[in-house]
Amino acid sequence: MIGLQFTQQGKIVKVNRMEMCESFDTSKVKITKVLLTPEDFRTLLGDDTAIYPVIPGRIAIGQISDASEGSYLIKGTRVYINPVNNCNECVDCLSGNENSCADFKRAGKNVNGYLRDFAVVNNSQLYFLPPSVKDNEALLIDYIALALNAIDKLNISKGEHVAVIGGGIIGLIISMLIIYYQAVPILIDGKSENLEQAKLAGVYYNLFSDNKVEKEVNELTGAHMAQKVIYVSDSNINTDLAIKLAAYNAKVGFVGFSSPTLKVNFNLAMRKQLEFCCITSGFGSTEQAINLIANKVLDLSLFNFECIKYEGCETKIKKCAKDLKDGTETVLPVLVDMM
Ligand SMILES: [Zn+2]
Repeated sequence: MIGLQFTQQGKIVKVNRMEMCESFDTSKVKITKVLLTPEDFRTLLGDDTAIYPVIPGRIAIGQISDASEGSYLIKGTRVYINPVNNCNECVDCLSGNENSCADFKRAGKNVNGYLRDFAVVNNSQLYFLPPSVKDNEALLIDYIALALNAIDKLNISKGEHVAVIGGGIIGLIISMLIIYYQAVPILIDGKSENLEQAKLAGVYYNLFSDNKVEKEVNELTGAHMAQKVIYVSDSNINTDLAIKLAAYNAKVGFVGFSSPTLKVNFNLAMRKQLEFCCITSGFGSTEQAINLIANKVLDLSLFNFECIKYEGCETKIKKCAKDLKDGTETVLPVLVDMM
């Protein structure tokens, strides 16, 4: 196996080692496409939840090159690799509540990711991709699964107003799914290009996050404010807004793959008797996400990632990590063609 690895000191080094299927419940996968996400760039910059050295590459698809006897997937099958796996060791895992695992293994963070030519993967993490799911769509499965978990945990129901704060990929996919489930998203962002995308995606209420937004949500909801609020954790918008836009007794969900330092004003939250919850993975909803894509429920043509070859990876990762650190430019995921 050859690939790239991040060291604790923020260096990128090459790795080259043998990798073989060790047990009957693993398969060897030829990695064909990897989506490097801001999560990966954050790991290079130093992340206290990461375990170094670590191979980056949170999201990947590939082809089974060596199937194990225990697998229903045969050689040549195109698969999606679920980036999150439960630990199988904590109290929740041992009592059958894998969805509440206390120590999720996250690719590219506390276990190796997929920026490498081959990977030996647990069969439970491999998902067959139907032909109707294109490669570029499959790379969004993790985002869709996260959005599904958020909608489920917040128990969003038909006709409800949901304020979605943060209009990047996560916020946009959540809003699209809220429409699919016949509720009403109000997407709020500080970047006009994100609001333009929201319009293209059919998100009717898209508001700029300035000092007028509270009044606008008040009007849109007939002074009730939002029964549900979703705050996307890397939106760079003050969390006060989430509390202000929430109706009394509303549910507020904090959603994202990472947990940047966030401060929340509990004074107002307590006065409104808000209910908080946090959603940090799509674990448990992968299958449903694949089905939604296969059934063409969402228009994913809006999401076009910059595509690079593996050879140009190192330079690109460094550049993205620097941009993320400087905070001057929007850092988007980068697609790496491994073929
Ligand atoms: Zn566990």
